[in-house]
Amino acid sequence: MATKKKATENGTTPKPTTKKNATKKKTTGRPPGRSNDPPAIATRTNARCPKCASTERRALNIITERHLPGIAPDGEPRTHVIWRRVKCKQCDRNYVEQSHENRPA
Ligand SMILES: [Zn+2]
Repeated sequence: MATKKKATENGTTPKPTTKKNATKKKTTGRPPGRSNDPPAIATRTNARCPKCASTERRALNIITERHLPGIAPDGEPRTHVIWRRVKCKQCDRNYVEQSHENRPA
């Protein structure tokens, strides 16, 4: 009678299912106790190039910032107005991107 071939000889040692999997720390997913409501979505309208209307732009890092509390054009409260020099990636036009930020204390 031929000897019965063991499963461990082909290199795939079947690992016994122990407590190891149960104690493995979960790093992704919803933490226990956290509600599973879908996340809120905040939309933002990007500045567009005045020449070609592209939203692809590169910051030139020349930023002017003013503390100007008031109402932004979209009706939301703002505390600061920021002007950033940007360059259009499509047509190389330089323009100023104005944004309204709300930084409540
Ligand atoms: Zn452009």
